[in-house]
Amino acid sequence: MKIFVTGGAGYIGSHTLVRLLSAGHEICVFDNFSNSSPEALARVKQLTNRDFALVEGDIRDASALTRALVEFGADAAVHFAGLKAVGESSEKPLLYYENNVSGSAHLLAAMDAAGCRRIVFSSSATVYGEAQCLPFDEDHPIAPTNPYGRTKAMVEGMIRDWSAATPDASAVLLRYFNPVGAHESGRIGEDPQGIPNNLMPYIAQVAIGRRERLSIFGDDYDTRDGTGERDYIHVVDLADAHLAALDYTGRAAGCEAINVGTGKGITVKELVAAYERACGHSIAYEITPRRPGDVAISFAATGKARELLGWEAALNVDAMCASSWLWQSTNAEGYGETA
Ligand code: NAD
Ligand code: UDP
Repeated sequence: MKIFVTGGAGYIGSHTLVRLLSAGHEICVFDNFSNSSPEALARVKQLTNRDFALVEGDIRDASALTRALVEFGADAAVHFAGLKAVGESSEKPLLYYENNVSGSAHLLAAMDAAGCRRIVFSSSATVYGEAQCLPFDEDHPIAPTNPYGRTKAMVEGMIRDWSAATPDASAVLLRYFNPVGAHESGRIGEDPQGIPNNLMPYIAQVAIGRRERLSIFGDDYDTRDGTGERDYIHVVDLADAHLAALDYTGRAAGCEAINVGTGKGITVKELVAAYERACGHSIAYEITPRRPGDVAISFAATGKARELLGWEAALNVDAMCASSWLWQSTNAEGYGETA
């Protein structure tokens, strides 16, 4: 199948490319490298021994996007491109609406121009907002608490409307929980710019000595040990979920939102302990006040993914930490330094 991958050079995109190429698909990556490096794509080629097309471009540029998609003749699109920093989205909301919402509208229009009717979209568990009940199932009310989450909810709605108006269209909105870890080779992984916003890359940078200590944002939550509980999902499992979702779009029309998580919550302290086992030394941390906007617990209901996609997570927290450490310890500066 010919698959057009926006944002393919990014963290989740690069891991998914490895799986798509290994499965024999023909790929065109469309990325502006605003939060990624061409080096990630070079390493994907090395890992898979497969080549693919690359168009350096911005999804906000409707004509460039349409040209690329029509020329490639895509059968399906996997749409990763977007901005994802929750804090930044409150400071620069219009930048987020323009990138994530307008960019996605251009992608759907380009798909129409190319006669492409299948899409898998990177949504987020953040669309649920505050838990009314746990685990989060896909029918939980949608009430995001920040501009980033609102862009994801808006794009979900837009894709749903597009699929209803487009004969034979098929869309899967994958609601990722907390993606972590790296490819087992240690050659590709998460390479955040500046100070990491997320827990796992922060722990990894403390482990390698790039940062002095982790701040644990609150230990007075109503959880097993007082620290926040999240559903961490191995990025390689997440990559496989995209293959299963693409497969699904080939056999069912319509639009489905599907959680991608393990169904199991892990606390901050439990993740730190697992990372210590992986790297073989202790991780310095201090307890600091809660981060505004954080919820105590978030984990996924996983039944719909199993039922519709035949997919479930296979890799545990030790595999997540071991792969992250292999990537971090062999690429201390991420893609900035060639290992
Ligand atoms: P990432 O930043 O590593 O990858 C995003 C890619 O999109 C990058 O290569 C970036 O250069 C590209 N991009 C951004 N804006 C673009 C534009 N206007 N035109 C072309 N390319 C553009 O992020 P990621 O972690 O791989 O996330 C991929 C998707 O999954 C994003 O849409 C994100 O919101 C979503 N998501 C991520 C997480 C997470 O924790 N990583 C959780 C839930 C959802
Ligand atoms: N967290 C933390 N220190 C950090 C970053 C995150 O204690 O430096 C906590 C955060 O409060 C939450 C969990 O780790 O309980 C996961 O946070 P992350 O930002 O990775 O994901 P999200 O908040 O999107 O679930």
